Amino acid sequence: MARKQRRPEPTDHLALEPAHTRCWVCSSTSWADYHNTRTVATLDGLHHLTLKIRRCTNPECQLYHRPYRPEEEGAWALPHGEFGLDVIALVGTLRYAEHRSVPEIHQELRGRGLPIAERTVTNLLCRYEELVALHLADHTHLREHLTEQGRVILAIDGLQPDVGHEVLWILRDCLSGEVLLARSLLSATEADLAGLLTEVKAASPVSIQAVISDGQQSIRNAVRAVLPEVPHQLCHFHYLREAAQPIYEADRHAKKELKKLVRGIRPIERKLEARKDPEAGAIRDYCLAVRSALTDDGRPPLAVSGLKLHDRLQAIQSSIERVAKRGGLRQN
Ligand SMILES: [Zn+2]
Repeated sequence: MARKQRRPEPTDHLALEPAHTRCWVCSSTSWADYHNTRTVATLDGLHHLTLKIRRCTNPECQLYHRPYRPEEEGAWALPHGEFGLDVIALVGTLRYAEHRSVPEIHQELRGRGLPIAERTVTNLLCRYEELVALHLADHTHLREHLTEQGRVILAIDGLQPDVGHEVLWILRDCLSGEVLLARSLLSATEADLAGLLTEVKAASPVSIQAVISDGQQSIRNAVRAVLPEVPHQLCHFHYLREAAQPIYEADRHAKKELKKLVRGIRPIERKLEARKDPEAGAIRDYCLAVRSALTDDGRPPLAVSGLKLHDRLQAIQSSIERVAKRGGLRQN
């Protein structure tokens, strides 16, 4: 159904890439083939995701031309879902652990700043119920799909809403994007998680070729116990994000301080308004360069915006110094 109100602007833009760059079947390098975008509303904002999709280029391969999407995508939302899994987990907890009605849940979500209609809350509750009722063993269509695919790349994520104590565990296949098992658990011990992994292993018609997680100790132990021969890859993105957090904070502060040094561009431009000479033109260009440096954001964590701003301002300053040395720009 058409939306009555325009969706608000995203709070951030994120680029997701597959952590695995080789084809799972033939091991040849898969090519970054195209990009998809989607917008997902989570409890902490509206996120615009750009997804890099890879495809195997070996015509002999069973996965030839099959899209391989970033593993992390499924941790954000269900396929085609506009709301994050954290929202679904919260809706489920409020309904079943806290016994709230749909209008009450709707109010709670609106109170948290989530732009959501009451009808959507009902839909999300249905998604939650479908998830926790899902039994791979009884799901013929899904089993056929996995059989055809020949293998499962299993990702495991735990979502803990900030009410109650339950964690919604989701085990999904990265190749098809399908959820294979979802359970709400009060604890997440190694034994609990081993139980979930055993259930998926037993119900899956094909072998689990690899596991991807954020590397929590209990997950690591459970994977080692249930799937001892299976490689367990920690999600690059989570590691990088955690490691980069202090750098990101420091960089943000540095950028703020740098910005203070280049205030007052507008008054300089205003003074030049009447002038048509080449020198005024050059100064105007420098003002423009500073402006564009200020609006040019980096892409953390690998390209931080403070350092980028520093480099650009440095380049502008060096250029001005070179011109001044040649005597091209008179002081006035
Ligand atoms: Zn291949």
